[in-house]
Amino acid sequence: MSLLSVNEARERILSQLHPVTTEALPLAECANRVLAQGIAAANDLPLFDNSSMDGFAVRAADVVNAAATSPRSLRVVADIPAGSHPTVSLAQGEAARIMTGAQLPEGADAVVPVEDTDFDNRDAGTPAPNEVQIFKPAKPAANTRARGMDIRAGEVVLHKGRVLKPQDLGLLAMLGIARVIVFQKPRIALFSSGDELLEVDAPLESGKIRDSNSYMLASLIEGAGAYVLRLRVAKDSHASVKASLEKAVELRADLILSSAGVSVGAFDFVKEVIESNGRMDFWRVNMRPGKPLAFGEYKNIPFVGLPGNPVSAFIGFEVFGRAAIGRLGGMGTAVRQSIRVRCEEQIDSDGRESYLRAGVREESGVLIARLTGNQGSGNLHSLVQANALLIIPAGVKCVPAGEEVNAWLL
Ligand code: AMP
Ligand code: MG
Repeated sequence: MSLLSVNEARERILSQLHPVTTEALPLAECANRVLAQGIAAANDLPLFDNSSMDGFAVRAADVVNAAATSPRSLRVVADIPAGSHPTVSLAQGEAARIMTGAQLPEGADAVVPVEDTDFDNRDAGTPAPNEVQIFKPAKPAANTRARGMDIRAGEVVLHKGRVLKPQDLGLLAMLGIARVIVFQKPRIALFSSGDELLEVDAPLESGKIRDSNSYMLASLIEGAGAYVLRLRVAKDSHASVKASLEKAVELRADLILSSAGVSVGAFDFVKEVIESNGRMDFWRVNMRPGKPLAFGEYKNIPFVGLPGNPVSAFIGFEVFGRAAIGRLGGMGTAVRQSIRVRCEEQIDSDGRESYLRAGVREESGVLIARLTGNQGSGNLHSLVQANALLIIPAGVKCVPAGEEVNAWLL
């Protein structure tokens, strides 16, 4: 077993994974999906010159000297609600009542808000006046939005690999894109293994524990943007592990993720079964928590074997599983962003890249971190109490109180 840094191990995994195929989806189904195409604007935005206020469209030159004490009186020649196509062209001394978002009429180059006129009546259904007194000048372009000021036709506005956010969907709609080419969601087959594992609702038996990893990992997988294909818990036997792996093949999984059974114990059959129909590497990754990480493939489906201890499984997923799903799912960036936090107390480490459970809180604009309870890899409670993982780099044995480290918020 070679000793790899976390980055090397992750890069080795990523280098062997390829994005899944794409599909065209209706825009309404694209939230959180990954764009498989760059999006260039087919039209300008805004689509046309329009008003950003309720008021009166004017020729700025007509109102240069307008003041409350000497209002400028204009003839109102049109009423332009949002959505209408103005047919008038303003001549000198003329105005049109106009609503927010409505298209500017020909000849108008500014909008005077209603509150700067004698017609400050915004009750629904109020007809436009025949004449309006303007109390303030308006510079050319004031309170208007020019066609193309936000986006020019042809401009690339979203890039391939982008996870679509709500605001992206809004922009796609503005651009008239009703169907979007996205990556399919990767299909992740998930199974736990171990003779000690009971279903969550089974009566307890001496020496047995409940399978917690499959619930935690299924939720992590979904949150990372993939489908979970939940398989039954595999027993510590060749036949049972093989049945799980065969099921993953039958379900056309893009990745098989398992927890436990990949140590070097006498009952760890996963390696043997995988190698009977594929290949498997065991890596000793220079991290904590984290036993050896298993990576390989079974009948050409990539396989990641996470440790069995619940916290190790969680962190293994965050460090390797999430990146793998990102790559399979076509995401532009596979590795999570970290933030900087200040350690409230001294933290001792053993020189491995360590992922420690911590509570991070803000005090006077500073993010302060404090470890939550016992950091044993079986103690899920301290992970539940944490809202962050502190990342102590390899080679560091002590972080003095007051120093900053990187953290992932959970
Ligand atoms: P193993 O990798 O099989 O040696 O398992 C390491 C530790 O993780 C043992 O204490 C197991 O009981 C525990 N463990 C394994 N799988 C699960 C699971 N699905 N849920 C909770 N604990 C587990
Ligand atoms: Mg086991």
